[in-house]
Amino acid sequence: MHPERLQAFVLGTRDYGDTDRIVSLFTLEHGRIRSFARGARKSRKRFGAALEAFARIEVQVRLKEGLCGLTQAEIHSIYPRIRGDLNGIAHALYACELVEAISPEGHPLPRLYRLLSAYLDRLEATAADTAERRFFEINLLNILGYRPSLETCSRCDTPFGGTGALLSEGGELNCRFCAGSGRPVSAATLSLLLSCLATGTFGSIPFSAETTAQAGALLDQAIAAQVGRRLKSVDFLQQVS
Ligand SMILES: [Zn+2]
Repeated sequence: MHPERLQAFVLGTRDYGDTDRIVSLFTLEHGRIRSFARGARKSRKRFGAALEAFARIEVQVRLKEGLCGLTQAEIHSIYPRIRGDLNGIAHALYACELVEAISPEGHPLPRLYRLLSAYLDRLEATAADTAERRFFEINLLNILGYRPSLETCSRCDTPFGGTGALLSEGGELNCRFCAGSGRPVSAATLSLLLSCLATGTFGSIPFSAETTAQAGALLDQAIAAQVGRRLKSVDFLQQVS
């Protein structure tokens, strides 16, 4: 099979044997793929610094089920400003680990590719903050079809209107009649999250401290319900921020 040129972000890498490396990529053309970079540990000549986490690269791969063969990689951007700031690194690693954990393998998701690209560009341009991480997460869940219902009760379909909702353990939002208890999520927070979906521009939606906290509790549970395990980068994120 002829090798194919792909646009990609490096989601993560792990060493294989003494000389090789397995590289997880999120590509524009085929979504998430796993690739085998022969000799990547032994000689940096072939791949250079291209195989670092959250680097944006152009790769040449031989596509196949399971592990693809990575034959060439050129750097588009390594995001040097993110790499100069621990908080920025923590947010970028988190974004990549989340995409790796939650996206299906071999399924093109160009909207998610553009979202990740926009988020890394934003982290490169300005200091990382929690509100923008939440903006990234709600858009990611929406693209994948995993976002909680923000408009109506997930059990009885009654619109939340001005009264807000209650958050259940599994990350669902319910009305006060269906859920006896749960963490309150205000109408303002629900409406703010819906506005995040209406624009693709980071930094355009103002989060208050209260909406950041409520949206955070909701998104953490909705993501945990999909991923089913704690992401390693969450601990790093908490240490540095
Ligand atoms: Zn209900």
